[in-house]
Amino acid sequence: MQAKARPRSTEGQQYTSWDRARLSIVVPIGVIVAVAIVCIVVTVLSSAEHADKFAVDHERQLLSRAIDSYGTHILREVDSVTSTDAATHNIRDKFDRPWFQRRVALWLESFFDQDLVFVVDASGKLVYSLADRKNSDASWFKAAQPDLAPVIGALRAQAAGPPAGAAAPGDAANRQIVMVRKFLGRPAIVAAVAVGLASSPGGERTAPIVGSVKYIDQTMLAGIAARLRLANLHAAGEKPAARREFVYALRDPAGATIARFAWTPQQPGADIVNSVVPFIAVALAGFALLAMFVLRYMRRTAAAISAGETRLRHLAMHDPLCGLPNRIFFGERLEAVIEEVREGRPPAAVFYIDLDHFKEVNDTLGHPVGDELIRNVTLRLSHTLRGDDLVARLGGDEFAVISSVGAEPDKMLTIAQRLIATICAPYLINKQTIVIGASIGIAAIEKKSGDAADIMRYADIALYRAKNEGRNRACVYDAAMDADLSNRKLLEADLRHTIENGALKLVYQPLVNNSGAAIVGVEALCRWTHPQRGAISPAEFIAIAEHSGLINELGQWVLRRACTDGLAWPGVSVAVNVSPLQFRRSDFYDIVHRTLTETGFDPARLELELTESTLIGNAETAEAAMIRLKALGVRLALDDFGTGYSSLQYLRRFPFDKLKIDQSFVSSIEKAADAAAIVHAVVSLGRGLGMKVTAEGVETADQHLFLRAAGVHSMQGYRFGKPMTAAEITARLKAPATGRPNDEIAAFAG
Ligand code: C2E
Ligand code: CA
Ligand code: CA
Repeated sequence: MQAKARPRSTEGQQYTSWDRARLSIVVPIGVIVAVAIVCIVVTVLSSAEHADKFAVDHERQLLSRAIDSYGTHILREVDSVTSTDAATHNIRDKFDRPWFQRRVALWLESFFDQDLVFVVDASGKLVYSLADRKNSDASWFKAAQPDLAPVIGALRAQAAGPPAGAAAPGDAANRQIVMVRKFLGRPAIVAAVAVGLASSPGGERTAPIVGSVKYIDQTMLAGIAARLRLANLHAAGEKPAARREFVYALRDPAGATIARFAWTPQQPGADIVNSVVPFIAVALAGFALLAMFVLRYMRRTAAAISAGETRLRHLAMHDPLCGLPNRIFFGERLEAVIEEVREGRPPAAVFYIDLDHFKEVNDTLGHPVGDELIRNVTLRLSHTLRGDDLVARLGGDEFAVISSVGAEPDKMLTIAQRLIATICAPYLINKQTIVIGASIGIAAIEKKSGDAADIMRYADIALYRAKNEGRNRACVYDAAMDADLSNRKLLEADLRHTIENGALKLVYQPLVNNSGAAIVGVEALCRWTHPQRGAISPAEFIAIAEHSGLINELGQWVLRRACTDGLAWPGVSVAVNVSPLQFRRSDFYDIVHRTLTETGFDPARLELELTESTLIGNAETAEAAMIRLKALGVRLALDDFGTGYSSLQYLRRFPFDKLKIDQSFVSSIEKAADAAAIVHAVVSLGRGLGMKVTAEGVETADQHLFLRAAGVHSMQGYRFGKPMTAAEITARLKAPATGRPNDEIAAFAG
């Protein structure tokens, strides 16, 4: 039942709030770390790319410079063998073929590894040609005209101009040129020197030209590659570069591509990436691991906190003693049910349960027993109710139930009766039998019932009514009770005032012997005359006093007053009514003892009138208290016998000196045969148990006669005297007894 009443929604909110808290920490940290990692990766990749680009650029420049330096080199070789005076003489002045062959061509061809050596005279005619170590015919010359013309043209144009820079000694005689260009369809370095230019003024037109061609072939490329460490350098042809290859386009001075060289460039970036990647991977794995640990830790912490919160909430919403939902929980649930009913769900009802005599159990048997009793009551209530009903402990001895029974009074009362019967069945705690009672106030929850506070007030009013109607009862609230209650509250305040001011009055009703001739005792009865409302019946104000706790002060006052007044009536017993609430107090014995001592009243003349309800709740304690009181010499009477449980067991068990047959029996003697039979039976029972029997409410002579015949010891009633002041009792006692006391007493009683 309690489980069903758990406020799930609020717990759900707790979980989401925890998730939110977790997100608010973990997500930003995760995002920051992820962004940092992405930044690092991007930086590494882009710097790797930069490094690669830089490396390729560098290698391209190296290649380009290597080819250029080949040119310079070749030119220097050609120049070195053509710039001597002998060369000027043998080439320019008069072309000496054998000399040239020996000292220039073979030199260039064999030692310097040129591919083609030739001489062109001033008229542009080929005078010498050597290719592949043999005097070649001139057939290539024609084919090479387009390739050669720009070189020779450029050289002659240069020769016509002023000398470029200071010529080195010895070679000042020549003008020279080197060009990288296509030669006979192949990429080549073409070097040319105008021989003996310096020594023949105006000779720029007549100077023969010695030329040399070196093809940029695979051998040259291999040499460059080895020197520059260019991997896999080769002529690339027209095909696009293979993967990871870079292509360099070699251009002639006019800008036309003469060859494409490809090689596999070094990739320092890739190396960087390769060496950094494992590090990043390890860092990432580390981070992931750390994140996992942090998340797990946080999840655990969150779960622990959430569990703690749930526990705290449970503690805050439940009664620690019995585990039932508490007042706060009940209030929340009540509001929810009210809302549901307003929205069209069927009506429900609140049962406000107050245990009778719980306080006494607590006071007399101790709190552990009281606690155990509460737990027992809890169990029984839980078992009696339906699954979707809620039972809560509102505090002390107050419980409340929200039931979906509906708002029909009959049904509500049936349930209430069942609850009362369950609670009232005897409990066995610590080997002691404990009987308690319960009063229930019921308020229906309907569409227009008002809010939770209203409904609880209605239930409280109904409870008040139930208690005043005699306990172990249930009452359903109706609007008329409201006025009644406020009326009672006013009366309660007035009564408190009256007691404090000592303004209550005590009257005494005589008890006469069975002949009615002699007053053998008096019963003290309390009177309250309200300044505005006049006389208020004891039935009304005693109930108010009991409900408000004022009964203790009232009872003490009555006892003291009666003992004081009784001093004036020697030989007459004085009976005082004791409310169950008074009797159950642990200090009751002391109060009686003190009052007797202080007033000097003879205990043997004091008679305490108890009702059966005094004994309900805890027979053992009641019995013990009775025994102590009797030890003082005080006598005990069982009042109103026949109205309550009329339990013969009680009669047998408890040490009563007297039994007072309730006036309801007496008044029915003449009308109902069974009433007469019962009176007979009770009298003989009392006598059998050694008790005195008194009949109350004797009003007629017939009743008197019947009771006298039945064997009643004493009688009380209007026939013998209405309650009267102490002074009147004193006067009555002093009046001389007549031969026909009955009539006189009756006449006196008026
Ligand atoms: P009770 O103890 O049964 O008192 C007897 C009641 O019967 C008295 O009512 C008395 O006036 C009434 N009575 C006596 N003879 C007759 C009769 O011939 N006919 C009728 N119809 N009634 C008769 P009262 O004084 O109104 O008291 C009502 C109840 O209030 C008492 O019932 C008693 O239980 C309670 N009560 C009165 N004074 C005190 C008190 O000082 N302390 C306590 N705890 N209860 C008191
Ligand atoms: Ca009485
Ligand atoms: Ca009585």
